[in-house]
Amino acid sequence: MSGRVYLVGAGPGDPALITVAAVDALRQADVVVSDRLANARLLDYAPKEAERIYAGKLPDRHTRTQSEISALLVSRAQEGKRVVRLKGGDPFLFGRGGEEAQACVEAGVVFEVIPGVTSAIAAAAYAGIPVTHRGVASSVAFVTGHEDPTKDGQDVDWQQLATAVDTLVLMMGVGQLQENAQRLIDAGRGVNTPAAVVEWGTLPRQRTVAGPLGDIARIADEARISSPALVVIGDVVGLRDELSWFESRPLFGKRVLVTRTREQASELSRALANAGAEPVELPTIAIRPRYDEEELASVAGALVKGAYHWVIFTSVNAVEIFFEFLRTRYYTFLETKPVDARGVRSQVAAIGPATAKALEARGVIVDLTPERYTGEGLLDALPADMMTRRVLIPCAEGARPVLANELRARNASVYEVTLYAIEPPAEQESRELAGGLRRLRAGEVEIATFASSSSVSNLVALLGDDVDLLKRAQIACIGPITAQTAEGLLGRVPDVVAEEHTIDGLVRALIEHIAKDVANAAL
Ligand code: SAH
Repeated sequence: MSGRVYLVGAGPGDPALITVAAVDALRQADVVVSDRLANARLLDYAPKEAERIYAGKLPDRHTRTQSEISALLVSRAQEGKRVVRLKGGDPFLFGRGGEEAQACVEAGVVFEVIPGVTSAIAAAAYAGIPVTHRGVASSVAFVTGHEDPTKDGQDVDWQQLATAVDTLVLMMGVGQLQENAQRLIDAGRGVNTPAAVVEWGTLPRQRTVAGPLGDIARIADEARISSPALVVIGDVVGLRDELSWFESRPLFGKRVLVTRTREQASELSRALANAGAEPVELPTIAIRPRYDEEELASVAGALVKGAYHWVIFTSVNAVEIFFEFLRTRYYTFLETKPVDARGVRSQVAAIGPATAKALEARGVIVDLTPERYTGEGLLDALPADMMTRRVLIPCAEGARPVLANELRARNASVYEVTLYAIEPPAEQESRELAGGLRRLRAGEVEIATFASSSSVSNLVALLGDDVDLLKRAQIACIGPITAQTAEGLLGRVPDVVAEEHTIDGLVRALIEHIAKDVANAAL
């Protein structure tokens, strides 16, 4: 196939605000040329082997000129490559996408434009400002606040613009806000016209300041607002008091450390982000399947023959590794038919809802999930007399023996089979680990969450002498066992311990805690 250039809008910052067409283009890209304002996380959509070129400032501080970038796009396309030019916001709104399209036309290279969600509208929206509003503003202009000195003619006509349009959105405008505001005022726009500046809009680090047009430059300067930021001028800014939604979410702007495994982090990160927090992922544990094939095969065989009255799953990992073994290894190991979930005829217990869900996804009906999602909760829910009962517990290496011991005390015959080990992640598999540690060391983290004892102990081990950094953050734990470990290793009682020992429970407890902080601060 012959090459092609895709001029693609990456959206305003929030990586969720990319279009389906843009994701498609990225997935099929041979080359991606990206900008400073295009969220770097979007590059993950591109195939691993795709060439990634950063068009912004280079390490030697040399900046590629526009014609160098255009030439690059054209030459790669002429080599037969699919070239994605990824630009912040929309490629045709102050994105110089038009110039790159012209370069394609000139060279006879086919191109497509994939529009994006522009920051001009989205950053305002995330600040609670609709750029038009019935009865308040019926026109809007997008204006450059920083005129290209190399461009001939075509200056912004501030004189005409000042009173002709209801809402003015100034882009690239923080540097010259003072001059531009003055020009508008001189041309007849009221000094008291509401104005706002939105920095890093749609991202967790979004900041908004507001004030009258006559004062907005000073206010932005005092708050040290810098690029990228959007200036919105007009009565619609007043709607912000009522419509601010993004910045008023309960955990807005809080940087929260997420210490689960890479695989599990996403669920907690998503829940935190939904509440407005910025998750900082630092995977402190890696789950590595580790079992004796022969032992596991004989256990699985016995399970299918109905040799166990109960099988108790105490984690999602145990479910995943056990059933993966049944599906793949058991078969190859014994050279018999693979075992399927219908073969499990024991009563099945799950420690909590996530584990139960993992079982149900594999077609296993869960007979028992306790009210409290701990080993102790399970013990409360299981019969007091387990005489002659045979119990299988697939577990982690070095798991807490409480469950097995107590069941034995109830006269059960318990077999614990080791499935996996919980270890610190290897340095090389973890870009997140390095990034998370860096941010923790920089003192950026306000709250640290822990969803297991091993995540606390591994992080403490990873930090070594830097453990004090952790003591400065607020500590939130999923349950009492994790809290105990944290208290033991950090020497202080955690600030938050979830009552419901789930990810949702943890996030809810954190929200309540922060709300209390806010209320206290207001007193
Ligand atoms: N094509 C882009 C705009 C490029 S010009 C778009 O459609 O969004 C760059 C200017 O866009 C910045 O100087 C700033 O004014 C604005 N901008 C881009 N991203 C922004 C963001 N996340 N928050 C606030 N302003 C942003």
